[in-house]
Amino acid sequence: MADAYRNAHNAVRAEHGPASLHQCVWCWGDAAQWAYDHNDPDEQMDGRRRYSRNVDHYRAMCAPCHRTYDRLHRENAGPDRMEREFFKARMRYPRESLAAMAERRAVRVHTYVSGKRRMAPLTVWQVRYQRVMS
Ligand SMILES: [Zn+2]
Repeated sequence: MADAYRNAHNAVRAEHGPASLHQCVWCWGDAAQWAYDHNDPDEQMDGRRRYSRNVDHYRAMCAPCHRTYDRLHRENAGPDRMEREFFKARMRYPRESLAAMAERRAVRVHTYVSGKRRMAPLTVWQVRYQRVMS
């Protein structure tokens, strides 16, 4: 059911916006993808891909962290290995790079939320963001 898989990811995007506007929950750099957290009791399968129909079971991640994260789950890595990889990811960027990325991300978020290019109605996430910023 490739469509169900895509629908689930579109729902996440509709709720939280594109992942690129978020910070990677592992390395704190720019996220690029919505990663399933492998924690949904009602987990769905699409071939070998696992996913969730619940938008709360996704985390924003960059591509390398997402790959590592999924591999660790595939290999049933225990909490120790998980934590080791997590801290490795956290050390990827120096503080100054993270600050610069965060600044550029804030500009992208602002453009996205207030952008005139968008014709579609604002997502739940955008409305929430506007409320916070006003
Ligand atoms: Zn990352």
